[in-house]
Amino acid sequence: MRILVVEDEVTMAESLRAGLVDEGFAVDVAHDGEEGLWLAGEVDYDAILLDLMLPKINGFVVCRTLREQDNWTPVLMLTAKDGHLDEAEGLDTGADDYLTKPFAFVVLLARLRALLRRRSNDRPTTLSAGDLTLNPATHAVGRGTTMIDLTAREFSILEFLMRQVGNVVSKTEIMAHVWDFDFDGDPNIVEVYVRSLRKKIDVPFDRSSIETIRGAGYRLDANGG
Ligand code: CA
Repeated sequence: MRILVVEDEVTMAESLRAGLVDEGFAVDVAHDGEEGLWLAGEVDYDAILLDLMLPKINGFVVCRTLREQDNWTPVLMLTAKDGHLDEAEGLDTGADDYLTKPFAFVVLLARLRALLRRRSNDRPTTLSAGDLTLNPATHAVGRGTTMIDLTAREFSILEFLMRQVGNVVSKTEIMAHVWDFDFDGDPNIVEVYVRSLRKKIDVPFDRSSIETIRGAGYRLDANGG
């Protein structure tokens, strides 16, 4: 497994490299976004650890550019604790997961392995559940031939549900994937967004694809009708 580490702090980059090599990974290091983007285009990496704040081209732009180039290598974005950029924005650029600095190396390793396990195939350009479609790169959402406008957060929640289609996901899982790690508000906020999603993707089409599983969470049913 070959990993690209894009990190400008030399000490951090070196400790990541050494730790990953110890675990048996092949590791390349880039110290700015431009070099990272170039390497990612030259080598078929199994995963990329991408720092957010980078010289020349920042991590968000690197990730978005890769996706625009149809490069779906899993990206684990490394963000600063005091980062003012919201996790949801990162998800919208096509990053697969997030880790807030400082983090324990064992946690990074666990998240990286989870990403590698998920990489069975290159990611489809468009996710679908029945006649509901969602394109993670262009943000286009539609039911049949009707296009649907969603807010950034509604989009992130729907994308998460569509990646887990048929499975029950809890409010806590949705929170963890869609909200900032520092967000410590009421998980019931998820209900508010699910309600507004239903008004857009289900109600006008006389569907009920987002099921509420009492005491457990939600399930997107592809044939929800
Ligand atoms: Ca940095």
